Formats: sequence, structure tokens, C-alpha cells
Amino acid sequence: MTTIHLHGKRGVELLHDPLFNKGTAFTEEERDALGLRGLLPPRVTTQDQQLVRVLDNYHRKESPLEKYIYLVSLQERNESLFYRLVMTNLEEMMPIIYTPTVGLACQKYGHIFRRPRGLYLTRNDRGRIKLLLQSWPQADVRIIVITDGERILGLGDLGANGMGIPVGKLALYTACAGIPPAQCLPIMLDVGTNNSALIADPLYLGLPEPRLRGPEYDELVGEFVEAAQQIFPKACIQFEDFGNANAFRLLHRFRDVACTFNDDIQGTAGVTLAGLLSTERITGIPLAQQKILFLGAGEAGIGIGDLIVEALKLQGVSESDARRQCWFVDSKGLVVKSRTDLVEHKLRFAHDHAPMKTLLEAVEALKPTSIVGVSGMPQTFTEAVVRAMAQINQRPAIFALSNPTANAECTAEQCYSWTDGRAIFASGSPFAPVTLNGVTHVPGQGNNSYIFPGVGLGVIASESTRVTDEMFYTAAKVLADLVTDDDLKLGRIYPDLKRIREVSAAIGTAVAQVAFDRGLTTVLCPTDLRAHVENTMFDPKYPDYI
Ligand code: NAD
Repeated sequence: MTTIHLHGKRGVELLHDPLFNKGTAFTEEERDALGLRGLLPPRVTTQDQQLVRVLDNYHRKESPLEKYIYLVSLQERNESLFYRLVMTNLEEMMPIIYTPTVGLACQKYGHIFRRPRGLYLTRNDRGRIKLLLQSWPQADVRIIVITDGERILGLGDLGANGMGIPVGKLALYTACAGIPPAQCLPIMLDVGTNNSALIADPLYLGLPEPRLRGPEYDELVGEFVEAAQQIFPKACIQFEDFGNANAFRLLHRFRDVACTFNDDIQGTAGVTLAGLLSTERITGIPLAQQKILFLGAGEAGIGIGDLIVEALKLQGVSESDARRQCWFVDSKGLVVKSRTDLVEHKLRFAHDHAPMKTLLEAVEALKPTSIVGVSGMPQTFTEAVVRAMAQINQRPAIFALSNPTANAECTAEQCYSWTDGRAIFASGSPFAPVTLNGVTHVPGQGNNSYIFPGVGLGVIASESTRVTDEMFYTAAKVLADLVTDDDLKLGRIYPDLKRIREVSAAIGTAVAQVAFDRGLTTVLCPTDLRAHVENTMFDPKYPDYI
């Protein structure tokens, strides 16, 4: 009686397979047909009843880390129930399965480890990566998230502990855009770590040796990409939390030869551009006339700058004019032409200007409409900086994007109080609404989850062979268009997170359309693309097995 969905699984094996397990929700008929009689308590419950139980258990956990461990173990037992729980409580649980709690979980990964999840590839696997990919039990992988753990959130080099990030990101692909869990593959590329505390920790689970660099590293990554294209030909590869020298180089190397993108560079750019487009609706200042000053010129900052330039070019602005809208301050001061210490990715934004040492000097000299914090340095949007922005602009846009919460350049409360509530504020990690003089301001969360799941959905639905900047620009426009006037009145420049599936479906449709329009796929465009995209989305309700 077993249907093909179960791949012949029955009895205990079925109960132990999280993709198929329904726990006490297996019906009387299923219990008889699938060899489950006696292996479960007798009373059959519905998924809704199970949901009450797991939510109750979740709330009994006192610390965010305990809640994280509870959710991960639920995911290991019963994926449908895990996603039902997360999807119905997304606002509450996203900060647990992703930033900021996932960062803490990564720091303690070797100490809280219970069961492996995903694939681990190391430098010792040179020459056999294909074999390792073949050992993954699912054949139809569509999204791979891979990290080498060098720059985990704002926490630096966490080596193999970084596995929590691909696992968490893929959970968001499913929760936010309905990518079926069986199509998701998390990978840790363990090339060592330069974190001496981890190397000294006897419970650390990665290779306790210094990071691999140079040609050997590049060859290992090259072998992985080639093997992934052979074993999972329809998969999109998302590079995640690589150190910035490798991240830019790998993106440049693979973006035109594989279906790949880097979320730290391109996804961040998409969500921030959407925030700036929403800001335009509040201030009336079009993107082409906004002047954006970044604190931090790494993956996030340069990625955002590059996408703004692409967006302005598509709006008819010349490349050189577009570049002059974006200015950067790094740890040495304003990025200007006369500097001799600039790495390659900063050079394209080095303008003719007198050198300046501090952000405050740069704000006063350049008079930006927005400042975007992507430095990982807490409290760098000081009272003086924020007040200067409020003197220059009626509605200054202040984006404190550094994660986790403790690394934010300023808090929501500081920002609103230093600007008498006039600032348009967004952050990387969530901040609660702030009431000031009787007015409630709702901070925007420039969360990449608004963008990458929808982009992935569109790439999968169209079987696109590439991921392009135009797709991220399109995604940003769709996201900004979904912000309502009521959202804007509250100061919120992103849609309510409760609408994330609708947002992802809309982005997925628009991104798939780009793939069809640009000939990036060999499949034909369905007549009703939106319906096609929505039909591919995973529903966590249990199927009937018989
Ligand atoms: P990165 O290491 O690539 O870049 C950091 C940059 O900040 C570097 O250019 C460095 O020179 C600069 N910097 C360091 N100290 C500085 C200082 N005191 N003053 C000025 N600049 C300084 O890292 P990244 O990937 O660009 O990420 C940076 C931060 O942005 C992290 O905290 C990360 O969590 C956050 N981020 C947020 C989002 C989001 O909110 N959606 C997305 C991606 C990254």
C-alpha cells in the first residue's frame, strides 16, 4: 500500500525519517498499512494539535539558545511540523533560527552538537568531492548553500562551526519561499580556521589547523563547483559567509559559468536597495538624487554600491554619475583616489576628494541623504553623526545593518531620539518599535530573507542557468512596491514579515520572468507564471500516505 512518496519506508525507519514522519498524526489506516501499529501511542492527533504541543514546549525553553536547540531537534524529527511551527510564528522564530541566535549557536556548535546535518567537505577530500556529493540521499537538489565559515555574520572566523549558517539559511528558503526541504543541501567546506580559541577547544569538530589559502584553496572550490554541476545539474549554488577576499574573487570567477550568487554581496544589496526605494516614497528624493555614505567597504557595502550603480544605469544614469552617488568610509577613513592602500573592490568607488579620517567629517563634507552601516562595528553611528544627519536632512535615512544586534551601529531608540523621530531607520537584526512623544516608530529590518528566498524560488521555477544583477534589481523593486502606505506611515520601509510567502511568490515570479526574457533557460515560460511559481511551493501540511 505504500505510495512512491515514501520510497518503500515503513515502521521505525519511517518514524525516524524527518521528511516523512508525521508522529502521532499517522492515521489508523496508515498505522496498519505502514507497519506502525504499536510503535506509536494509540491516540491519533492532528497536526494542529501537535502544533499546540510543540509551541508550548518551545515557550517553556528559557534562553534563545535553548529555543534554537529545541527547534533544530524538532527539524531532525519531523520537518513538516517544524516548518508549520516556524511558518505560523515566523516573526518570533526567525531571530532564533537565523540572526542573532544562530550566531550564538555557531559559536557553541561543537558544544551543543547532537546530530550531523548537511555535507562536510574538507581539503582532504580533494579528488573525491563528486563521490561525496553522490552520497547525499536526495537526487533532486535545487539549492545548495555553502560556507567555509570564515566570516560568520559579524562574528568572524568560526571554521566548521559555521555549518549552522547554511542549515539556517535553507530553513528560511523553505519557510519564506516554500522551497521543498528535500531540494535543499547545506554544505560546510572545512578548510581549517585561524581562530586559535577554536583550534584549542577539544570539543571543536572541524579540522584543527590553519586555513588553506592560495591555489590549493581555489582548486578545491573549483572541484566542488564542477562536481555540483554534474551531480545536481539543476542546483543553484549560494556562497555564504566567505571572507571578503575570497567572496569577491569566487563570485567573479563563477557568476558567468555557473548558476551561483553570493547572498552577503548580492542579497544584502537587494534588500538595502529596496529600503532606499521605499525611502524615496517618504522623502520624495529619487534614487538618482540620493547620496549614500557607507561605513564599511566590504562584501555588504560594495555589493550594495554595485547594485545601486546597476539600478541607476537601468534608469538611464551614466555609470560615472551613478558611482558618484555612493561614498565609502572604511577603517582608514574616506575612500578617495589619493589613497594607496585600497584593495581592488574599493577602487571603483574611490572618488576625487580630500582625505577624511572620520565618519563625522565625511557626513559634514558630503551631506549624504543616507548613511548605511556595514562595518560590523557597534556604536559607530554616534550621537554627533546622527544629529548631523538630522541637520542636513528633514528625513535622514539611517541604516544600521551590522549583525548581530550588539554590533548595530546604533540602536533604533538612539536613532529616533537623536533625530526627534524624523529618521527613517532600518537595521540588520530586529529592533522592537519605539514610542517617542506618543508616536510609535516601527524600525525596518533589512533582512536578506526578503530577497534571497524569492530569488531562489524564481531561479528554480524557471530553471535559470544563471543568477544576474538584473534579478536582484527586479527583486528589490518588487519588494519596495509591496510596502503599503500604512507601513510607510509607521516608518516601516519593508512589508510586514507576515506577508513573506506572498513577497517571495511575487519576487519569484518576477525573477523567473527575467530568466525567460533574457534566454537564461531552455524551458518554456508557462502561460500563468505566477500560478506555476506558487504550485512549486512546499506546504507543510501532512500529505495522506495511503
Ligand atoms: P566585511 O568584513 O566584508 O566588511 C567589513 C568592512 O568594514 C571592511 O571594509 C572593513 O574595512 C570595514 N571596517 C571595519 N572596521 C571599521 C571601522 N571602525 N570603521 C569603518 N569601517 C570599518 O563584512 P560584510 O560582509 O560587509 O559585513 C559587514 C557587516 O554587515 C556585518 O556586521 C554583517 O553582519 C552586516 N550585514 C548585514 C546584512 C543585513 O542586514 N541584511 C547583510 C550582510 C551583512
